[in-house]
Amino acid sequence: MYADLHLHTYFSDGTYSPEELVVQAQRHGVSAIALTDHDTVEGCPRAALACAAAGIEFIAGTELTAEQEGNELHLLGYLLDIHNPRLLAEIATFQAVRQNRIREIVVRLNQVKIPLDAEDVLALANCRAPGRPHVARALVQAGLCATMDEAFERFLRKNRPAWVPKFKMSAAAAIDLIHHAGGLAVLAHPGLNRSDQVIPGMVESGLDGIECFHTKHSTSTAEHYLELADRFHLLVTGGSDCHGLSKGKPLIGTVKLPYQHVEHLKAKAAGRETDEPPIKPLHTATDG
Ligand code: AMP
Ligand code: FE
Ligand code: FE
Ligand code: ZN
Repeated sequence: MYADLHLHTYFSDGTYSPEELVVQAQRHGVSAIALTDHDTVEGCPRAALACAAAGIEFIAGTELTAEQEGNELHLLGYLLDIHNPRLLAEIATFQAVRQNRIREIVVRLNQVKIPLDAEDVLALANCRAPGRPHVARALVQAGLCATMDEAFERFLRKNRPAWVPKFKMSAAAAIDLIHHAGGLAVLAHPGLNRSDQVIPGMVESGLDGIECFHTKHSTSTAEHYLELADRFHLLVTGGSDCHGLSKGKPLIGTVKLPYQHVEHLKAKAAGRETDEPPIKPLHTATDG
């Protein structure tokens, strides 16, 4: 049995509906999935229903953008109460920031004579949490770039002409928000952000886990983060970060997280809910 705990739908920058995502999960024999759309939990009720019908275990989640010591980090929140008022209020703020950022990105594109209309991008995105991939898709559809990669390389990446920094809360605030909503906070794809130096500080802020297995982590990168998870007594998670057809081919099914890690995740969340002492780590730094 294996799980995929990092998946996106069209409620953020993926292309699948929640139902299509679950069909794909079933096709690949995934036993448990988590939906982790950027800055939203909107897709969770539909994904949960589709999973129940398909006999797949569903874990509610989200992916928040944060920063620590100037580094952008992504934090996954798992097993959240998706109706938590403060979570929903803060998420609504992040969504407004994203929508305004799309408008600013388009202004900058227009300044370098790229004729795109922000309202067209927002219509194409058709979600509350639009992001740069939607701008890239709009550029491709308008014939202004050949591929999404070209759009990022020429315009959207950091320090390119249409780069607009995004408001980011601190990592500690993101962890606190996830905990407030009853969830567990996991550092997403640390191998992509080269963020090892921020991990001890995040552990002090209450970080619960590290995403060791990810499409863009090599075997040695995964092993490195497994070691760090062991050293800091953190949960181990993993997922494909599938965005549907947005990044060429769908990635669901390419990262197989052994199911035991889902059990550890649930055990820790249950322990927190009932204020039981935390579960003992399976390994400690001293047991070789
Ligand atoms: P944003 O949240 O608006 O800053 O956009 C970040 C999103 O863009 C993440 O989901 C990335 O995976 C995605 N992304 C980054 N580079 C590329 C690329 N070259 N092609 C497609 N998506 C990308
Ligand atoms: Fe994304
Ligand atoms: Fe991410
Ligand atoms: Zn993601």
